Amino acid sequence: MDWDEFAHWGKHISDWAADYHKTLRDRPVRAQTAPGEIAAQLPVAPPESGEAMEMILADVERIVMPGVTHWQHPRFFAYFPANAAPPSMLAEMLVSTLAVQCMLWQTSPAATEVEGVMIDWLRQALGLAEGYSGVIQDSASSATLSAVLTMRERATGWRGNRAGLSGQGHLRIYCSDQVHSSIDRACWVAGIGQDNLVKIGTTGPRYGIDVAALRQAIAADRAAGHIPAGIIAVTGATGIGASDILGPLLQVSRDEDLYTHLDAAWAGAAMICPEFREDFWADVDGFDSIVFNPHKWLGAQFDCSVQFLRDPQAQLNTLKIEPEYLKTSGEAVTNYSEWTIPLGRRFRALKIWFLLRSYGVEGLRSRIRNHVTWSGEVCDRIRALEGFEIVTEPILSLFSFRCPGDDQMQQRLVDALNDDGRIYLTQGLHEGRKIIRFSVGQFDCTREDVMMAAGVIDEVWKEIA
Ligand code: PLP
Repeated sequence: MDWDEFAHWGKHISDWAADYHKTLRDRPVRAQTAPGEIAAQLPVAPPESGEAMEMILADVERIVMPGVTHWQHPRFFAYFPANAAPPSMLAEMLVSTLAVQCMLWQTSPAATEVEGVMIDWLRQALGLAEGYSGVIQDSASSATLSAVLTMRERATGWRGNRAGLSGQGHLRIYCSDQVHSSIDRACWVAGIGQDNLVKIGTTGPRYGIDVAALRQAIAADRAAGHIPAGIIAVTGATGIGASDILGPLLQVSRDEDLYTHLDAAWAGAAMICPEFREDFWADVDGFDSIVFNPHKWLGAQFDCSVQFLRDPQAQLNTLKIEPEYLKTSGEAVTNYSEWTIPLGRRFRALKIWFLLRSYGVEGLRSRIRNHVTWSGEVCDRIRALEGFEIVTEPILSLFSFRCPGDDQMQQRLVDALNDDGRIYLTQGLHEGRKIIRFSVGQFDCTREDVMMAAGVIDEVWKEIA
């Protein structure tokens, strides 16, 4: 393909993208294909000679599109959103055009310097204290793994990387029983082990960690000769939005000299609104590490996860490795690959720059406030459906409900709704019972989209009941 052809197809694809988004409401949200149906339409071997772009794009329509679940659909209420605001898509096009690899300052100074400034813009937008720096990672899972490795290294006197973990006592990490599975997985791959991730029960209307039980668990572990290494808190956990009360938890970490990480992958975006910050993030500034995903609720196209660090040196002590071929001469500069597990890095900061400049923080705030309000309204409409029960009240824009009937019936309703295609919901488990989660947050959704869901739920329920 020469660059003139590239320009032609580039325009074609951006026109296609605009049409796709404008007509998205008419498509079923979740793909309606059966397992294997898409793969069966692809040749088993790669082509020996090149094919025309017309043919490739025609196959995208014919083969790929039926098997796409539309994450940007305004009636996507499943999981958490993975929004792609149009300016961030444009930034992504530029990122893909430049195709720079931003592992070191010198491999693209603009990428490093824009990243540093974007971290600070977001720090201000979220109301975090001056002094926090940070790094953009691909996902919250990577940021959490970096934090868990830092807990491990700190607790082993920075010897784990060199000497390995054999002969160590059991390192222990503490969190509530509501945290996302990325915390479990970080403990697996960091060599901590699932059995040493101590999950504490929760209390209160927002299902925050039981701090007295946390203190007891740490004391019991010390008495048993274990080595407490860190505490992981959550604001807006995946199941029902559980959120820890941060101040008392941080007090435990200070009393026990433990490294702290806060997972706000989803709910962090809402902290650009001062009222939610007051409510959820009082005392947040004590955390050593905080992760939030602009690629979820905020609108930066996937992937884009920000990890704030109170003192990056601890993570650098854990992850920095500098073979000769990565050394740079000259002035001291920031080489962000020393802050993360992967060496290679994309120019993700450009998406944040485009997003914040296009909407301004206030433009993003109003979307998030609408989502929270509409979530409360649709929750009340579902509450009013005969026999329906709200299991957990909205925490920001996430709540959960049950239809009449047992757990199997909940799953039947979820499946029937997703086969119907007008809305997309997913299930969860709360206190041993299956629940249906409802998460409002798609970038382009309107109040009508959200309210319509209650009617669809009622209609589909009556069909299967
Ligand atoms: N933490 C929470 C609370 C989440 O909801 C999720 C994903 O939905 C994650 C962490 C993992 O995020 P990522 O996919 O960026 O690793």
